[in-house]
Amino acid sequence: MYWEKQLETIPREELSLLQAERLQKTMANAQKTNFYRRLFSRHKIDPEKIKSPEDLTVIPPTTKADLREGFPFDFLAVPLEEVVRLHSSSGTTGTPTVIYYTAEDLDRWTNQVARSLYAAGVRKNDVFQNMMSYGLFTGGLGMHYGAERIGALTIPIGAGNSKRQIWFLKFFQSTTIHIIPSYALFLTQLIKAEGLDPRRDFNIRTILLGSEPHSEETRRRVEEIYGAKAYNSYGLSEVNGPGVAFECAFQEGMHLWEDYYILEIVNPHTLSPVPPGEVGEIVLTTIYRDATPLLRYRTGDLASLVEGPCPCGRVHRRISRIQGRTDDMLIFRGVNIFPMQIEKVLMSTPGVDTNYRVILEREDYQDKMIVEVEIKPELFLGDLQKLARLRERIQSELRSEILVTPEVVLLEPGSIPASEGKAQRVIDRRQL
Ligand code: AMP
Ligand code: ZN
Repeated sequence: MYWEKQLETIPREELSLLQAERLQKTMANAQKTNFYRRLFSRHKIDPEKIKSPEDLTVIPPTTKADLREGFPFDFLAVPLEEVVRLHSSSGTTGTPTVIYYTAEDLDRWTNQVARSLYAAGVRKNDVFQNMMSYGLFTGGLGMHYGAERIGALTIPIGAGNSKRQIWFLKFFQSTTIHIIPSYALFLTQLIKAEGLDPRRDFNIRTILLGSEPHSEETRRRVEEIYGAKAYNSYGLSEVNGPGVAFECAFQEGMHLWEDYYILEIVNPHTLSPVPPGEVGEIVLTTIYRDATPLLRYRTGDLASLVEGPCPCGRVHRRISRIQGRTDDMLIFRGVNIFPMQIEKVLMSTPGVDTNYRVILEREDYQDKMIVEVEIKPELFLGDLQKLARLRERIQSELRSEILVTPEVVLLEPGSIPASEGKAQRVIDRRQL
């Protein structure tokens, strides 16, 4: 039932002691980095006085911008010769961020991923097809080693090359896949085009959905299409990668491993803690990692705390599904909109297929929203009135969810460019 019973079911008081002990080591480590040494001296913080999670609030949070500015070595706490790997987040939009790992860091991370996979029911007899990109991105190698540690047959197929993915799914009858949700939806079109049925021809039992925000409706669709259980898998490269928080069999929120991180959920404007159940920004302090300690790292991800104990017996607190990011909120004619609200409406509408995108334009100083939606191919063969009704239905449901009326365009499957990586759902042309 548990990968590490003692640590997963540890009484909360003991967990607090463990956190305090690990935090103190982390503070000593942070003092060795250029970034935190400067920060402590600027804010007159004595790292030895930070002894338990409550003391952390005197430390200003660390941001992605800090990580970028500190590139390449300002967050490194150990001699470079102790480092055995680095991961880096894409530098397409500026300086990349880089995270270093000692051999022990990698070992702990592997264990953290194994614990997560085990909670979602992955076992030694599974065939694990890892459909995430291998390389600087953590979703490939990170999951890979965790699955191997459990003893699953781990297929490092990587992202993309859909035909090969399908062939492997069929030939090796993979029982577990790790996949980006938008790609899991998109892939179904290609599976059908090959004349295959994902429920009949494959043997998938467990799907790990990670690396991009997705709604409960999308999860249900993926489960329905593949005839499998889909588990939410949360992580970010800055604080290791996959395995930060994971769903257990009860699928009500993701256990965030509190022997690895100190969790805060804060109001992104005031930075004060939000009451349990309310949505705020996830802030994490790494307490079980040597090479790159991060104190109060602002993830930009919005979620709430799930209250109460989980029937699975794990004591680590649960966070809700990620509701969006602090930086993906759209302001459209003065209304705040999260792309996830649009996804929720579309994915719960019968007739809607697997891909969509939102385009924002500005015409004569007026903002315009166009929602392009792919719909099931058979609908184009039916009567036109039905199509018009579907379009109106989507439009009115969107209006009641996001309070603005978009133009809705229905398209045949395959019309909208699909991505093998994280999907780009919103195209904002208003600045151009
Ligand atoms: P990366 O550092 O490239 O792995 O990206 C990490 C980011 O991906 C996180 O900060 C989240 O915004 C997003 N992300 C990862 N996993 C999930 C998930 N299960 N649900 C929603 N967003 C996720
Ligand atoms: Zn649980």
